[in-house]
Amino acid sequence: MTTVTSLDPAIAARLSRDEAGLVAAVVQDDVSGDVLMLGWMDDEAVHRTLTTGRVTFWSRSRREYWRKGDSSGHTQHVRSVAIDCDGDALLVRVQQVGAACHTGERTCFLAGGRLPVVVGEAPVDGEGAA
Ligand SMILES: [Zn+2]
Repeated sequence: MTTVTSLDPAIAARLSRDEAGLVAAVVQDDVSGDVLMLGWMDDEAVHRTLTTGRVTFWSRSRREYWRKGDSSGHTQHVRSVAIDCDGDALLVRVQQVGAACHTGERTCFLAGGRLPVVVGEAPVDGEGAA
């Protein structure tokens, strides 16, 4: 991607992008703690998210910037942004207006639903742990 970005070089240096130049952005409701959705950001989307108070993603399907809520009205207002240990993911805490998912569900994970899993359990203290 050749987009000129004004992202702070000190922040840009901490990002570990995938081959498409993107980092994952996990979006979490700042009030409930619910994980709302996952989006993708290039450097410019990170810059816009850090400096405008609104969450902006890079849409991989439409190949354009996507400021959450511009078409749906379901805006996301940035409360904080954290970077993970190796720089390939951001945690964006937001004030969510309306549904985070385009399906109308509050979160994308409610929309998708649970998959069948074998439930694991940590050993009780003093048992089994080597
Ligand atoms: Zn969704």
